[in-house]
Amino acid sequence: MAVAPPPSSTHASGADQPTTGGLRVPVLLPMPFTGPFDYKAPASMALKPGDIVSVPLGNRRQTGVVWDTHTTLPADLAHPTPAKTVADNRLRAVAERLELPPLNAELRRFVDWVAAYTLSPPGMVLAMTLRLHMKGATPAPAMGWIAPPTPPEELRLTPARQKVLALMADGSPRTTTDIASAAEVSAGVVKGLADAGALRPVLLEPASPFAQPDPLHHPPVLEGAQKEAATALRHSVQDKKFSVTLLEGVTGSGKTEIYLEAIAACLEQGQQALVLLPEIALSAQWMDRFTRRFGVRPAVWHSEIGQKARRQTWLGTADGSATVVVGARSALFLPFCNLGLIIVDEEHESLFKQEEGVIYNARDMAVVRARLAGFAAVVVSATPSLETLANAHAGRYQRLVLPTRHGGASLPQTHLLDMREAPPERGLFLSPRLVEDIAATLGREEQAMLFLNRRGYAPLTLCRTCGHRMECPHCTAWLVEHRNRQVLSCHYCDHTEPMPPVCPNCKTEHSLTAIGPGIERITEEARQSFPDARILVMSSDTLGGPAATAEAVAKIARREVDLIIGTQIVAKGWHFPHLTLVGIVDADLGLGGADLRAGERTIQLLHQVAGRAGRASAPGRVVLQSYTPEHPVMQALLSGDFDQFMEQEAEQRRPGFWPPYGRLAALIISADTPQAADDAAARFGRTAPYGEGIQVLGPAPAPLAILRGRHRRRLLLRTWRSIAVQPILHRWLGLVPLDRHVRVEVDIDPVSFL
Ligand code: ADP
Ligand code: ZN
Repeated sequence: MAVAPPPSSTHASGADQPTTGGLRVPVLLPMPFTGPFDYKAPASMALKPGDIVSVPLGNRRQTGVVWDTHTTLPADLAHPTPAKTVADNRLRAVAERLELPPLNAELRRFVDWVAAYTLSPPGMVLAMTLRLHMKGATPAPAMGWIAPPTPPEELRLTPARQKVLALMADGSPRTTTDIASAAEVSAGVVKGLADAGALRPVLLEPASPFAQPDPLHHPPVLEGAQKEAATALRHSVQDKKFSVTLLEGVTGSGKTEIYLEAIAACLEQGQQALVLLPEIALSAQWMDRFTRRFGVRPAVWHSEIGQKARRQTWLGTADGSATVVVGARSALFLPFCNLGLIIVDEEHESLFKQEEGVIYNARDMAVVRARLAGFAAVVVSATPSLETLANAHAGRYQRLVLPTRHGGASLPQTHLLDMREAPPERGLFLSPRLVEDIAATLGREEQAMLFLNRRGYAPLTLCRTCGHRMECPHCTAWLVEHRNRQVLSCHYCDHTEPMPPVCPNCKTEHSLTAIGPGIERITEEARQSFPDARILVMSSDTLGGPAATAEAVAKIARREVDLIIGTQIVAKGWHFPHLTLVGIVDADLGLGGADLRAGERTIQLLHQVAGRAGRASAPGRVVLQSYTPEHPVMQALLSGDFDQFMEQEAEQRRPGFWPPYGRLAALIISADTPQAADDAAARFGRTAPYGEGIQVLGPAPAPLAILRGRHRRRLLLRTWRSIAVQPILHRWLGLVPLDRHVRVEVDIDPVSFL
């Protein structure tokens, strides 16, 4: 998060007329102030906490929410800001209460909690809730017409008017447009009848766009472990108490099928359910599954839905008409009025972490929302994070395991291909053995997939003559060649430049060389090796968003593709029934660098990719190209013993109190110049907190030492689990005065260490 500058005035004070009489109410605005501002409201407005209001701020109007006068935060999170009280006679008045459902106490507590935990201004967390729908005014309710049982006596009846009255004789209300088109008359005829009193205006209730899912529509037949898991999940929902359950099971074991039963239980007791998925996994496939089970589609929430759907879903969650929402992480901030269950599918995904603005992890905050409101949360994964496993081991989470694939499908066999023994030809990246394997698979008319988690053509462009490397002018990063677009582009900022004709350093022609592969280059190689294969490339460059991704997945399922080449987008929960071979081009890729979770992430990602193979009757195979086949990650992928690997990880993290056995928070200091960044970082270093169970690492240049032109330094605060980091951070941040040009971001429970 960005630490907010102190507000110029803690309370709104007015240039316009002070009001007299009325009540003082705190109003939280969706802005980076430290807390709510007091306003005055006439008693007749009868404002209650949660009401959405419009208030004056400076010379503008601003939407805000009437907030609570007392904090509900636990002591270790509460950070009272000294209230500057504005005299009654200087308070400005609430302009109006908006005709919107109020935010309930549960959501207000959640907003306060997330703000306190992430050290963000509460208004910025509120903004995530409000921004979701509040662009412009609420739409005027639709007006229609209804015909009274007997028309006025003196009515002049033309043929056109008779047609309208005949249409309206059934008593249903209709809009002007509907009447004009159904009776084939002009809108003027309708108006004339209205003026003559033969049609009366009515308010049309907008039909809720959300059909109600039917829990009895098409229940699955469950046996054995599936049945036990479904029963346990149903009970945890029916308890109507806070609980967290880890639903774990190999890919294809029926986890989705089982958690749909938890949703059914939630619907049966008349409550709403929320399913969080990583954005790109929000697929038509998932919708189809849901529709088959419940008869109708759920409400959907992601970055691509239009303004109208946003508003409808926001209102639908608030009035209870949207009973099941499936969405990306921001759906967690929707104003549900009667939430009874949250499911976090693919809980290990780092996409649940929002890295900008309010820096929060939607998986963890989902658990918080469930705890504050007292209902069940379910986290789901084939490869749970160590955080979640540790919670299960400690007994904080219930753990349910589905040990086998549904319907007797076997797990794919894994082969390690030692690239030192079977290297590719010079300039190529696929081992001849993998090429043979793919050829054989395609020959059997089965599908194959190549996975490489790197977009573009090549990650590095180098001059063969002088050794110059093409780097981003604004970031500590190499430029990635995108040959399809004929540009070099930075994957950390917006910088893009044309591929230069000569080396910018030594001016030699034809000397710039692509080093290493991205998926464009693998595609080029595959086209040469398999000229007849129908190839589909899946990456964020080739697929714009959820809709395009869904179409690609459908093509694969329809067998219109032979070879899929993709980045991590292919690792999501897709069901590709004809896919039998998965080739991992560079299994070692994620293991470099100083990332705490490099091993865990690599194994989760590769296991997930591998899980796409052999989900139907034909058995699947996975080939891992590796230069370090002896690495524990490769060995664990080979043996399939994920539990044992995670135990080793746990053993490595426990002694140093690394998460989940301790707490971690990062400070990222950035400034326009390296000196300013160093100065500020040194000041944080000198004032670093200390004590038993508290340690500060750094300051050190961030791995991305320059990002978008800003120079970055990092410090890490690590504590025992029993110590809350928020009060320590508040004190620390308060000790270091900062220049205007220096920014400090606080990242609680960091996932990225760049
Ligand atoms: P996961 O979420 O663990 O990857 P899924 O729930 O997607 O597994 O199940 C894999 C496949 O098996 C899906 O096509 C699903 O419809 C099917 N399946 C799983 N359990 C059952 C069941 N009890 N009855 C019918 N089909 C099932
Ligand atoms: Zn850049």
